[in-house]
Parts: sequence; structure tokens; C-alpha cells
Amino acid sequence: MQTISKASCAMASFTCSRARTGLCVPGRRQLCLRKGLVYGFMQLLCLPLKTLRGAGRTLRITQFCSVSNVSSSLQIELVPCLRDNYAYLLHDVDTGTVGVVDPSESIPIINALSRKNRNLNYILNTHHHYDHTGGNEELKARYGAKVIGSGIDRERIPGIDIALNDGEKWMFAGHEVHVMESPGHTRGHISFYFPGSGAIFTGDTLFSLSCGKLFEGTPEQMFASLKKIMSLPDDTNIYCGHEYTLSNSKFAVSIEPNNEALRSYAAQVAHLQSKNFPTIPTTLKLEKACNPFLRTSSEEIRKSLGISATADDAEALGIIRQAKDNF
Ligand SMILES: [Zn+2]
Repeated sequence: MQTISKASCAMASFTCSRARTGLCVPGRRQLCLRKGLVYGFMQLLCLPLKTLRGAGRTLRITQFCSVSNVSSSLQIELVPCLRDNYAYLLHDVDTGTVGVVDPSESIPIINALSRKNRNLNYILNTHHHYDHTGGNEELKARYGAKVIGSGIDRERIPGIDIALNDGEKWMFAGHEVHVMESPGHTRGHISFYFPGSGAIFTGDTLFSLSCGKLFEGTPEQMFASLKKIMSLPDDTNIYCGHEYTLSNSKFAVSIEPNNEALRSYAAQVAHLQSKNFPTIPTTLKLEKACNPFLRTSSEEIRKSLGISATADDAEALGIIRQAKDNF
């Protein structure tokens, strides 16, 4: 089992060093340095990685190496935490800068960093809940990493150093990061959008086939947050805070059974999960076609839940959310 895991890790570093040292084709070095221009190429290189990562999951390797996406010079590695949380390691291959999004606990992150002998420079939190910030203090103490979070949640995010607000831009090793306020689940929730890499970290705002519970916000706020995310390019990869997709798919199919794209995705999700593979990242295009919380105007959903044709989208979202809470 470990052989496969290590093979996957070895492949990861091989891929990157090829890119870094310019052994691929003449001029590759220049391309790699121009962040955002080598997306397709790097994805192609990483196809075997995805396969091997999958093999690791089948064999229930708990400490596996999974570079789930390499776009521009930013690698994104999915790290399962707690029961169903995902943290994400960000690695800029040009500078060696490393960040982690939403470390619920420290041990899986420390293990993932140790395997590659990496330091940790930044901790990015989408919101203050313990299952997204539980590893902050220990990781900060161990690596001296800076904690980044919402200005609104300055008092609730453990160890916060850099407070950012809606619309602000922050740089992660040359990668522009857009801070998007996305309240609804909590009042200070933010999402981190990396336009150069086509990736967004949505925490507990947007899941695959669902949205977060409305603990501190209204359906109007959640609808506005989702609408903002929906305005991004369709091929944006969505990295959310939990692996909830399989149970979400059951609810989604129950209220929109004739949605063919949804039925096909639900079957794919069931297959992936039966093999213990992650369903994340998803894409905005897929979610627009299948996620009931992004489909508040669907006639079939409205009919299933008795939502009147005159109800606005936020009202419909509130009713869908309530139905999901009681599903
Ligand atoms: Zn939460």
C-alpha cells in the first residue's frame, strides 16, 4: 500500500522538477514562470498522478500523497481531516511557498508537509468554525506560519495575523488571491479565489450539490454569496470544506429526478465514493447543472417542494435549505 503512496509522491516531485528545470521542451522554463499560462500542460502532466492517487484511496491509505491539481505553478493537494473535512495544501513550485486552507487539525497537515520536507508559510481560514481552524495554533507555533482570515471574524479566528475584507486582493507567492465575502453559513465567511489558477476555496458556503447550513445568515445572504461565486468562469475548480457529495446527491435527485446531468453525476459520485475516492474538486459548470441551491428557478425543484412560481430565488433557496435540513 505504501509503495503506491510513495510512487505517487515520487511522481509528483518528478513532474514538478521537470517543469522547473525545463527538461520538457525548449522554452518551458519561461512558460512555467509565467503563472497562469501552463494550466493545460500541467494538468496533462498530472493525469497519471490522479490515477495513482485514486489507487491509494482504494487501498485505504490514510496518509497518501494527492496532488489534485497543478495549474500555473500552484499545486493543490487535498488532505482529508477529521471525519469528512478537507484541508488543502497550496505549494508554489517556483518559490517553495506553502499554505494550507482550513486545517481542522494539525497532524494530517504536519504529516503531509514532513513527507516532502516542507515548511508552512500561511494558514488561510474561510471561517471560524473549529473544524476549519482547529489546527491553527499548533501549526503556527511549529512553523511560524501567518494566519489569514476575515476582518469580520478577527475575534473568532485563532491566531489571526492578517485580516482581509471583501474585494481585497492578497498575494500568495505571486498568485493573486481575491477575497470574496460569502456570508450565510457564518456572518464572517469568506472564499479565496485564485483567478490565475481557476480555483476557489469555498469552505462551507458552496459544497458539491449543496450549500452550507444557515447558522448565522439568511437565505438572502446565502443566495447573494452563491450568486457571486456563480459569476466566476464555468471552468473554475471548486474546493470545498467537506466530502458531503454522496449524501447531497440523494437529496438533489429526490427533488429533481428528471435532471439527466444530475443523475449521471450522482452515479459517478456513488462510484467514486464506493472506492473511497474524493469527489472534490468539482467545477462551477457541473454545479450549475446539478446543484439544487444554484438551480432555484428550476420548475421541477419548485414543483417538488411546492415553491410558488412567484417566489424569488432567495425565498426558494430558503425552502430548499429547510427541506434539506429535514431530509
Ligand atoms: Zn462551518
